[in-house]
Amino acid sequence: MYSPGMNREKEIWRQGPDEAARKLEAHPESGLTGAEARRRLAEYGPNLVEEAESRPWWRILLAQVANFIAGLLAAASVVSLLLGQEVEAVAIAIALLLNVAIGFFTEWRAERSLEALRHLGMARSRVVRGGKERQVEASELVPGDVLLLSAGDLVPADARVVRAEGLTVDESALTGESISLAKGPDAVEAIAEGETPENMLYRGTVVAGGGARCLVAATGMDTRLGEIAKLAGEASGGGTPLARRLERLGRRLVFLTLAVAAAVAALGFATGKPPFLIFETAVALAVAAIPEGLPVVATIALAQGMWRMASRGAVMTHLEAVETLGSTTVICTDKTGTLTENRMTVRFLSLPDGGEEEPDGKFSDPAVRALRAAVLANAAELGGADEQPRGDPMELALLRAGREAGLDRPELLRSHPEKRREPFSADTKMMATVHRVDGDHRAWVKGAPEAVLAACDLEDPVRAELEKRQDELARRGLRLLGLATKAMEDPGGDIYQNMEFLGFVCLEDPVREGVVADVDMLHDAGLRVVMVTGDHKATARAVAEKLDIIRSGDPDPHLGSELADLDSLTEEQADELRRTPVFARITPERKLDIVDLLQRGGQVVAMTGDGVNDAPALKKADIGVAMGKRGSQAAKQAADVVLTNDDFTAIAWAVEQGRVIFRNIRRFVVFLLSGNAAEVAAVALAMALGWPLPLLPLQILYLNMISDVFPALALGVGRESGDVMNRPPRDPSEPLLARRHWWEMAGYAVLIAAVCLVAFVLAGTTRQAASEAFLTLALARTWHVFNMRGPEEHPLRNSVTKNPLAWGAVALSLALLAAATYTPLAAILDLRPPTGPATLYVPLLSLVPLAVVQLVKSFWGKERNE
Ligand code: ATP
Repeated sequence: MYSPGMNREKEIWRQGPDEAARKLEAHPESGLTGAEARRRLAEYGPNLVEEAESRPWWRILLAQVANFIAGLLAAASVVSLLLGQEVEAVAIAIALLLNVAIGFFTEWRAERSLEALRHLGMARSRVVRGGKERQVEASELVPGDVLLLSAGDLVPADARVVRAEGLTVDESALTGESISLAKGPDAVEAIAEGETPENMLYRGTVVAGGGARCLVAATGMDTRLGEIAKLAGEASGGGTPLARRLERLGRRLVFLTLAVAAAVAALGFATGKPPFLIFETAVALAVAAIPEGLPVVATIALAQGMWRMASRGAVMTHLEAVETLGSTTVICTDKTGTLTENRMTVRFLSLPDGGEEEPDGKFSDPAVRALRAAVLANAAELGGADEQPRGDPMELALLRAGREAGLDRPELLRSHPEKRREPFSADTKMMATVHRVDGDHRAWVKGAPEAVLAACDLEDPVRAELEKRQDELARRGLRLLGLATKAMEDPGGDIYQNMEFLGFVCLEDPVREGVVADVDMLHDAGLRVVMVTGDHKATARAVAEKLDIIRSGDPDPHLGSELADLDSLTEEQADELRRTPVFARITPERKLDIVDLLQRGGQVVAMTGDGVNDAPALKKADIGVAMGKRGSQAAKQAADVVLTNDDFTAIAWAVEQGRVIFRNIRRFVVFLLSGNAAEVAAVALAMALGWPLPLLPLQILYLNMISDVFPALALGVGRESGDVMNRPPRDPSEPLLARRHWWEMAGYAVLIAAVCLVAFVLAGTTRQAASEAFLTLALARTWHVFNMRGPEEHPLRNSVTKNPLAWGAVALSLALLAAATYTPLAAILDLRPPTGPATLYVPLLSLVPLAVVQLVKSFWGKERNE
């Protein structure tokens, strides 16, 4: 049996196709049977390359046990035991276990959702199995499968070519050199160092042109890319930039905390507190202030956000992109299929004499002549009654209009056999076919109207009249094509000159529903939407006006040809271009220039694309967006986001979610840090004033490690957008916590610490008073979750109050506090239920920070960014 891997691979490229097929136990014509494919899938495993091996559960558990906090708690527990404080020792050990359990489950969950996300958006491949062509998930490919590839496809596994037609491949993903290499089926004797055999295709490379039938030789981690990934996986450090930033923040806080704990301890000694109490308090405060769960929650928040985006048609290809999405400032989008439906219908023909004819079955002779060009110079196939139409929607629309006039392409080809074809190219913006008609040859052409007019022989006044008409038609938002023909003495000769003009065909492509609302929403959120299209300037402008993309005061649409040399632009010219909402007649190369131009102006750019040639622009853009339906695999591979329905709305949604995720992580951090800082402040102040402790060490542990975790998590995964789209994009260089957040947290901490101490003093700073102080602080921290609303949101109806998880978490926190006060747990935590007037003022005091913050936010917070 063949076993994949590099050693065997040598043998198959040295041999001819038949011998290679025998080695792979493959049938180049009929492919594997379904049963054999399933058997091999079980034997070789799925065709997946994991960039980094996912962590097994025991490694995750180990990480929970082997960290600073766990060590601190374990030490505290042992010290308590040595000092004869058994209850404390056990309680601390339980806190430690709970902490490990919560940490383990959150991290395990994050890991699993990441793994599932990696499988999302996997491409499908065309294979032959059981003699039939079919589509399978790329992950289900097995060695020996017959794989069919065409231009734009990403090679999904290592494969041996058995048949090829004009096949060229870009191997830059493997070699770093972006040149197209010709490939074919012939056996290769020897290859030079660093080169790949001409008859082998490798996973991760891209088919640049032509097509091939090949046999899968190796899948998954046995492919060359897999071997590289294995090496790279071992070397790479994990985490997204955000997770790394959080880790850095956490490390800094460790030092800060140690300093505070030391200061508190010093104060304790100075005021004559018992050493054991001081020790435990210092440990509890240290545990309180170190937000060790931050990176994990960030990962959960990102992963959850990615699921939400995927469910609405935007699949992110990696976690990092989510962060960038939230700071995107410009979205450059194509028109056809993204802003419009790409459901084309022919509205009418505009003939050379100025007449217009709608496709209603009654066509004049000149109209039929024009339509013949539209039908012959066409690469689509309508197919029979039970077949799916194949090809470009615009070309299909032309074929349908042709049928109305009795022109059926397959039938027409019988009397007009096709002898030559010039495929559509973005350079000429035309396509042509040459046919044999009654012993002679004739060419038919369709293409961009100005290109076709330029290829035709026309008297000057007629040309001027047609150019004027072309503009008028385009201004109505119609998509125009020019049609032309000419007799060919030499069927191989030059086509695009001296042609006879046959007319314009005008197509309509309705704009997608909801796009106007999305464009407006993005505008309000400080983003600009720029249309980048290959279409005619006037058509583009008309559609852009319909969609609110062009607004008063915006510069005129620019043509791709006007972008020629970016370096020679003056600053004003560059600025004007940067404000331009529409670029027309753009080729893929020009897209790259547009990204460059905008980025040089400090913009964070999202750019959409679908073709193989769009890949460089998608890579260069901060957020490359590929079309899932229409897009080539090359574009999808280069992209950060793949839109499953090619729908603009999904981009808007993704931007919104990108902001929501970042905001959630920020809220989570602010909530936790400010609550913890309140405890530190209350204890430190009490020590400084020589009072007894208002909060006991075990109580602090209980609050931080158990009852406060849930509201924090609820904030981390909230899905409500709140006011995120009412403010400008986040500056990508801004830290997670800017100066204003530190001030804000200090404010919260002071307020909460203050009510805690007030309760303590009101009750006479006794043991009973300490219980009441603790409950005041704990309740205030529970309500504190509602302080996390955006400054522009309604105090009662906002993204926190609309988050059911937040309510659940508050209920759970309250239940846990009740349990701590009214069950046997109270003896361990040294808690007593409030008595007398405290039953009233404890809850009232706990509400004071909430009330103050809501007032401040309502009156002064509006202009502030969250
Ligand atoms: P968008 O960029 O919004 O998708 P587009 O489809 O117009 O717009 P291109 O595909 O670059 O962009 O096409 C440029 C122009 O070339 C089109 O406006 C049309 O006039 C012409 N054209 C496009 N496809 C064909 C084709 N198959 N045959 C002939 N002409 C075509």
